[in-house]
Amino acid sequence: MKHGRIVIVGAGQGGFQAAASLRQEGFEGDITLIGEEPGLPYQRPPLSKAYLKTGNADQLALRPASFYDKKDISLRTGLRIDRIDREAHQVVTSDGEHLPYDHLILATGARTRRPPIDGLGHALDLRTLADAERLLGALDRPCRVAVIGGGFIGLEFAAVAIGLGHVVEVAEAAPRVMARAVSPEMSRLFQEMHADIGAVLHLGRSVRLVEKDRIALDDGTTIPADLVVLAAGVQPNMELAGEAGLACDNGIVVDAQMSTADPAISALGDCAVFPDPRTGRQVRLESVQAATDQARAIAKRLVHGADDPYSAVPWFWSDQGDWKLQIAGFGGPQDESVRVGENAILRFDGEALSAVETVNNPKLHMKARRLMADRACPTRQELAAEGFDLLAF
Ligand code: FAD
Repeated sequence: MKHGRIVIVGAGQGGFQAAASLRQEGFEGDITLIGEEPGLPYQRPPLSKAYLKTGNADQLALRPASFYDKKDISLRTGLRIDRIDREAHQVVTSDGEHLPYDHLILATGARTRRPPIDGLGHALDLRTLADAERLLGALDRPCRVAVIGGGFIGLEFAAVAIGLGHVVEVAEAAPRVMARAVSPEMSRLFQEMHADIGAVLHLGRSVRLVEKDRIALDDGTTIPADLVVLAAGVQPNMELAGEAGLACDNGIVVDAQMSTADPAISALGDCAVFPDPRTGRQVRLESVQAATDQARAIAKRLVHGADDPYSAVPWFWSDQGDWKLQIAGFGGPQDESVRVGENAILRFDGEALSAVETVNNPKLHMKARRLMADRACPTRQELAAEGFDLLAF
């Protein structure tokens, strides 16, 4: 389709990219990009990294306002979509306005998961620019910081807070950090690094209670805290789709082309669950790469009718202290790990290389991404051979 009306709900990383890619692919119709948050669409990764050090929000915008004018994209922010009327092909705003669409793209992202902990209202989130502004304000004076959750965002925040001179303790319910996403070996390396820079990690410990000046763990430990940060994962924003009768299961269910069962509605990014072509597993990826690549794939499909399955190699990064963790591929919880060299770990799903985790080794990361994209990975036997050099492969 080259003409018609495309409405995109969610003006975050993926929603922005869908609008930009539609124009890039030659779509000449109306594009309306609607986001609940105020202001220009912005990137979230710096919120737990550079932004907390500099407080500079100007660099967060994905594009200046002039971009949307130039590309004739109608950007409507500070506006929430409350309902989808699939029969009428319309979305309904919180003001009651009905906006018609020929195709609807759901890019509603995710929100901070709120585990059932007493007193959680005392904790601050880290998902939006408004959240980060609040945290920046709180870090203005010396703080004892308690972080709930030892995943990427909790640990990035912990490392920045330590770098700024604050005292930081992290409570993680799993027995190791970043357990959902990295190998046990990589968890261990990061645990050591965080201990070295001065973070106290409480692993395998759930938070039972949050109060104004402390948190209490399930083993009775009390952590004094002037600031409590909630970083215990996210949950997809899928209610809009679910209430419109679209299948949802830990995300809005889409097929290999990122289309829902309603051919007039696609979904992407943090809110979408899709079949991973490598493993056949249903996955939902929370990364800039997934949101942008899925947006590009949807734009291509809508404009050119291409129906190739979405198959980009997943990749991810996380900056913690002086360490840049990069992951190419997507490892499952059961995958085996083989450490190669100082700071690289290969993960295997049976004989197949599922992920390559590296620290401060961008060359190896890029090489792994290329090999995976070309489906030209060395065999497990080759990888295990003495002196094998993945970079030279
Ligand atoms: P989002 O960017 O979250 O955008 C969704 C938007 O939809 C939101 O603005 C939301 O308000 C809006 N919305 C939801 N419902 C409605 C509605 N009904 N009506 C209107 N608008 C609605 N990823 C990496 O790859 N590397 C990193 O280092 C990294 N660091 C991160 C650090 C932080 C602090 C955070 C929060 C995330 C980080 N991520 C990182 C994850 C990455 O930012 C997300 O995966 C990415 O933003 C997902 O894009 P999205 O478009 O799916 O969702």
